Amino acid sequence: MTHENTCAELLDQLQAVADSLPAPVFVIDYDGRYTAVFGGRFRNHYDGGLNLVGCLMQDVLPEEKWRLFLSVVRRAIDTGTLQTCDYQLASMEVGVTENDGPPGPQWFHGRIYPVMPRPGKKPSAVWLAINVSEQKTMADRLQRLSERDDLTGTFNRRYFMARLAAEVQAARREDTALCIITLDVDHFKRINDRYGHMTGDLALQHLVATLRVQLRRQDILARIGGEEFAILCLATVPTEAWTVAERLRQGIKDAPLATDHGPLRMTISLGIAAMHARETNLQALLSRADLALYQAKESGRDRTCFAAPPDPSDCQGPQDHGTNQPLPP
Ligand code: GH3
Ligand code: MG
Ligand code: MG
Repeated sequence: MTHENTCAELLDQLQAVADSLPAPVFVIDYDGRYTAVFGGRFRNHYDGGLNLVGCLMQDVLPEEKWRLFLSVVRRAIDTGTLQTCDYQLASMEVGVTENDGPPGPQWFHGRIYPVMPRPGKKPSAVWLAINVSEQKTMADRLQRLSERDDLTGTFNRRYFMARLAAEVQAARREDTALCIITLDVDHFKRINDRYGHMTGDLALQHLVATLRVQLRRQDILARIGGEEFAILCLATVPTEAWTVAERLRQGIKDAPLATDHGPLRMTISLGIAAMHARETNLQALLSRADLALYQAKESGRDRTCFAAPPDPSDCQGPQDHGTNQPLPP
């Protein structure tokens, strides 16, 4: 076999292998021009990309995408290192796609590596794009399951505690106020006893829907016990938290759940604690809110109480709200 024949056969084999790659590989030069596209045969996951050859990213992609992609390509070339990039892209967003792949936006994991320099050629990188939409959907689902409460769809206790820890640190760093509100349904056992457990479940879902209407965008609601909830109020001073709490209390009172046995009325008791200027003990912060909630229960239910600060001399909260009392607004 001649040398030419061996080379031709090798080239032929390389071409066949490159074309058979299930995921596409784009060769993109330093200017952002697609100089070659290989593979991507698996039409369930990818549009055909051959139409891209010769095009500049800047001409076929939305600005925020081509800016990101070009910076990744250049970083791979400039540093000579592997880059990765996770992104969402729809056929519709790509100007000249063959549009024969999956419908709707897809998630991709890109692996980008510089091509060995070739004399007379612009520096370029290969971009392997793997469709990871199924894995992303599964990961999102698992994350949701680990963070949310099944019955009400609110965040769960685990998420709340982790988020509280992060937000207390951020609030201390940025010197902003933070309050937590805990709330518990009054005499919920009676609701279960009178209407049955299933209606009790509906009542909890109704409670959450009503709370959501009254909450602000920055408030983070979590179910931390059976019929006990906590709200993390970011960038909120005690007087604002008080207003939120009273709005929630009134909102629940004013929105009975219609049942076959007539309207089911609920009231809630609430406790508020403000983050102390040097707060480090999350459990202490929660305990103060719980103590205020307990005080609200003890003093007659259907009311809001404000927690005493641990040390009034350096507390951020209003001094006249410094005891566990049911306070007037
Ligand atoms: P209080 O005013 O003192 O809070 O009285 P309460 O009856 O609400 O007392 P407690 O908080 O001790 O009781 C809560 C009840 O909530 C007990 C439990 O059976 C019920 N519960 C807890 N989780 C669920 C749930 O997911 N669904 C239903 N239907 N009931 C629940
Ligand atoms: Mg209760
Ligand atoms: Mg309870």
